[in-house]
Amino acid sequence: MFNKEKPNWCVGCGNFGILTALKTALLELNITQNNTVVVGGIGCGGTLPYWLQAYNFIGLHGRALAIATGIKLSKPELNVIVIAGDGDTYGIGLNHFINTARRNINILCIVSNNGVYGLTKGQASPTAEPGFQSPTTPYGNPYEPIKPIHLALSAGCKFVSRGYAGNVPHLTKMITQGINYNGFAFIDVLQPCTTFNKKFDYIHYQKKVAPINSDVINSDIQYAYQLADTKEVMPIGVYYKY
Ligand code: SF4
Repeated sequence: MFNKEKPNWCVGCGNFGILTALKTALLELNITQNNTVVVGGIGCGGTLPYWLQAYNFIGLHGRALAIATGIKLSKPELNVIVIAGDGDTYGIGLNHFINTARRNINILCIVSNNGVYGLTKGQASPTAEPGFQSPTTPYGNPYEPIKPIHLALSAGCKFVSRGYAGNVPHLTKMITQGINYNGFAFIDVLQPCTTFNKKFDYIHYQKKVAPINSDVINSDIQYAYQLADTKEVMPIGVYYKY
């Protein structure tokens, strides 16, 4: 599961944590490269499949889930994992996200969520906070952000979770559960972009994230929405599993 090549991400990029967690989960589950396909989109997070020794496919912007669906339908015995960014998944690929969740295709979808289009130099993405200044929003982002957990719940996703790239052991558990889940499993990962989104750095997330009690399997969708509306902290863990 290791590639000799080194990632070309910026120093401190949260994608390093996601890569480490994914590698660890695959090793712990004894999943070999022969039966695993990792599909990326376009963007910094979308390059992650390059740095794994598994079959990989880098698709067009926003189309990773459509490609992954085709792979899974033609070879159901394969583990199919998607890794794509927030712009890729909640922007141009939003339609694919909703429909893949609704169809409950048996794949794991990891979203590297940093609130910017990092690869193209930091434009505001669909999860950018209001007021965020960027090359496309020089006077501040005028829009409310997409809420990934609400979106997944309302699309009918039955495994809805959130991880944090700065807590690799916790994220590894999320990925392990997602791979083992029989259906569409979704993990929105809080991923610090150290170059273009300075406000949401590791210090910010260290203060905000709070693990959900992992002993409780939550199949109450109303409670999951309430959890997603929490303002004081950012809960990480499984919000909903059915
Ligand atoms: Fe990571 Fe941001 Fe650098 Fe992209 S621009 S590699 S997301 S730190």
